[in-house]
Amino acid sequence: MSIVIKQVSKSFGTFQALEDINLDIQTGELVALLGPSGSGKTSLLRIIAGLEAADEGTIHFDNENITSITAKERKVGFVFQHYALFRHMTVFDNVAYGLKVRPRKERPVKKEIERKVLELLELVKLESLASRYPAQLSGGQRQRVALARALAVEPKVLLLDEPFGALDAKVRKELRRWLRRLHDEFQISSIFVTHDQEEALDVADKIVVMNQGKIEQIGTPNEVYENPQSPFVYDFLGSVNLFKGRLTNGKLMQGDFVLNIPGWTGSNIQEAIGYARPHDISISKESHGEETVHSTITHLHMVGPFVQVELIRSDTSEYLEAEITKELYLELNLEVGEEVYIRPRQLKVFIPEDYMI
Ligand code: ATP
Repeated sequence: MSIVIKQVSKSFGTFQALEDINLDIQTGELVALLGPSGSGKTSLLRIIAGLEAADEGTIHFDNENITSITAKERKVGFVFQHYALFRHMTVFDNVAYGLKVRPRKERPVKKEIERKVLELLELVKLESLASRYPAQLSGGQRQRVALARALAVEPKVLLLDEPFGALDAKVRKELRRWLRRLHDEFQISSIFVTHDQEEALDVADKIVVMNQGKIEQIGTPNEVYENPQSPFVYDFLGSVNLFKGRLTNGKLMQGDFVLNIPGWTGSNIQEAIGYARPHDISISKESHGEETVHSTITHLHMVGPFVQVELIRSDTSEYLEAEITKELYLELNLEVGEEVYIRPRQLKVFIPEDYMI
């Protein structure tokens, strides 16, 4: 089911929680609403579900305007952060619930319900725990029950509000894989809310970055990470190094350190900031003139096939973070306390808002 959100706004009293939200979601897409606390993610999800009404704007499911139909009629599946399982029901009955309460005409016969529930429990690998109660399950197992329960009614749209928020890092990672697999298997359109950039980058087809009730950027994980369209997105999507200076004729200058900004067509800026991700910082043992800056290594961390190098700049005492391959690390034979030269291979400078026409 495709979902089209057009010009949606919402205020609570005088506070504007959502402002002119426009979003297209294709059938079968897994979309992450990513943003800091209070950015409007949950409000948007609740409006899509029909639990909250927008002040302005429309929502279409498969070209049908469903803005004024009830949550029940929208037939969306839900998973919340705090499981919301029925405590007095077994795992089996929790998953069967949505099917049992269907209107008589649409309700499957008992045998069919049983077959379906067992199939779903098998899918989330909980078939051996069917007769347990929620209190007898781990957090991760409960969230898998919640996923199975949401999927039992065969929703065309699955909405998840911080579904793995309350779980530890390892279980979260495992459940993300579940979500991806179940989503693909059921060919539904799913939207999940998260404030965890790693989670969004890891599983989503499309990321919607939200800030203060507005959409900052929409794109694939690669697009929003590698090509952020605003300082906010740069910052929110991962580690970033800032190079401050005066920008004149495409050169960012700070003391003796001069960086070329290839392709810069904007004006000169008195106080510019260049952004560079850790993997865009190169490290060498020798100076290569004005484009390199003397720094000292303060920490080295192994992260899988990469090494994170923390440094301090000699000229400004600012901290920097670089990420290099293990091979390069071994080749350079780097050590904490060592003096090296760094250079950002790529630098992105945003035109300050007051320069924009
Ligand atoms: P979080 O990650 O903390 O859940 P969020 O991005 O999901 O945040 P929302 O829950 O959508 O943000 O809230 C957006 C803003 O709207 C917040 O400032 C919140 O206080 C406000 N808000 C949400 N619901 C209501 C309400 N019913 N009444 C008043 N203000 C509300």
